[in-house]
Amino acid sequence: MTLTSFDIVIVGAGPAGGHCARILAKSGRKVLLAEQNDTFDKNDFSSAATPLETLSQFDLPESVIGSFWHKLTIETSKVSQTWESPQSLGVVLNFAKFRAFLASEVQRLGSEVWLGYRYIRHSQANGETLVEFKQLSDGQVIKVSTKVLVDATGFARAIMYDQENDKPDFLSGTGIEYLIEVEPEVYNKYSGDLIFFLGDKWMPKGYSWIFPMEQNRLKVGAGRIFLDAKTIRHLSPLKKYIDLLIDEYLKSKNYKILDKHGSTLKYSQGLKDIYCKDNIIAIGDTVSTVNFLGGEGIRHGMDGAEIAGKYIQMYLDHKISDFRDYETEMHCKFDRKWNISERLAVRKYIDDANDELTDQTISYLKYMKTEDVMDILFDYRFEKISRGLGGYLWRKIKSLIQGLGG
Ligand SMILES: Cc1cc2nc3c(=O)[nH]c(=O)nc-3n(C[C@H](O)[C@H](O)[C@H](O)COP(=O)(O)OP(=O)(O)OC[C@H]3O[C@@H](n4cnc5c(N)ncnc54)[C@H](O)[C@@H]3O)c2cc1C
Repeated sequence: MTLTSFDIVIVGAGPAGGHCARILAKSGRKVLLAEQNDTFDKNDFSSAATPLETLSQFDLPESVIGSFWHKLTIETSKVSQTWESPQSLGVVLNFAKFRAFLASEVQRLGSEVWLGYRYIRHSQANGETLVEFKQLSDGQVIKVSTKVLVDATGFARAIMYDQENDKPDFLSGTGIEYLIEVEPEVYNKYSGDLIFFLGDKWMPKGYSWIFPMEQNRLKVGAGRIFLDAKTIRHLSPLKKYIDLLIDEYLKSKNYKILDKHGSTLKYSQGLKDIYCKDNIIAIGDTVSTVNFLGGEGIRHGMDGAEIAGKYIQMYLDHKISDFRDYETEMHCKFDRKWNISERLAVRKYIDDANDELTDQTISYLKYMKTEDVMDILFDYRFEKISRGLGGYLWRKIKSLIQGLGG
């Protein structure tokens, strides 16, 4: 039987896999993008908030936008602070439509997308890689051959590691989110506002959020960070904190739950993931491109996918014989900022977080300009905090970062 062969097989049609497939298909390569879910509505897990520049940076159309936001609010146990701008600051993507768009682009550009196909294993033969998929509708096993195999399976890291034991230690996060329909008066009050909740009152050992979506729809979620699943057994379920936001904050009496979804993040402390092996390369959350402090991973996964795309082209053109330079470039791009973010995340969410310091920090930040707060939250420019804080408080936060070796 002759096998269908591809230049590149990408497993996982998340933001990283979908975008990588799109750019490689655009440059005329024969790509297969394979995803285990048979529709993008099935794992519609991400809150998908992102700054406005993501749209132009990755050439995304309006059809993938759930809503725009021009305000940022942070609620702590005792403090509420809002920064706003006359212009839009960002969007909340419709995560299902966004990934469906990337996949449709891959097809439009002449490559293939297989939905409902789970990667099982791969093997090497005659300089090519054979990849086996199980078609989930009928259990049939299908083999294809490829010159390059891409692991874009997110936290599962399904290709890079043969055994669970081979994986590095992870910082983990679990998030659950409801998509709810609320009364127009409730929606109008919160549309345009990206609201984060920090502090023991709202979400101990994590954070929760309310993001606007299409008309009368809000995403309400809560996420918790942990090093070891055993440590969270004694904590209340996340649902309790989502109900708290709906009942106490939104005060919505007649809301309707349209969807409940959630997922996991697994981030390698110190970015110790395997980035490549022979002709196999890993992208997106598989190599911890998610920023662990805020759980923001969409544009970083796509950014990393573009870097990988460049090296895949060079590999296929025989200009390089492995992907080691990809790993080096990814470390140059992510190491410093991700290191500080990860350490702050451990301090804030895992070690004994100081609720009072959180209140104080947010109340001092109120003197900062909206663009500076955007730079801190979305460009991780923590040094900017010093401008908005009193000397004592800044020294305390700085000592936290420095004391951590950052
Ligand atoms: C609750 C929650 C809220 C979040 N909110 C935001 C946010 O507001 N903004 C933001 O920027 N980021 C957010 N993130 C993070 C962001 O969603 C991720 O960083 C991003 O989706 C990672 O993209 P990826 O393509 O690397 O992986 P994923 O999106 O995880 O995609 C991996 C894909 O691989 C598929 N797959 C896995 N195993 C196999 C297999 N064996 N065979 C075939 N397919 C397989 C999966 O089904 C999945 O579709 C959030 C994450 C969570 C969990």
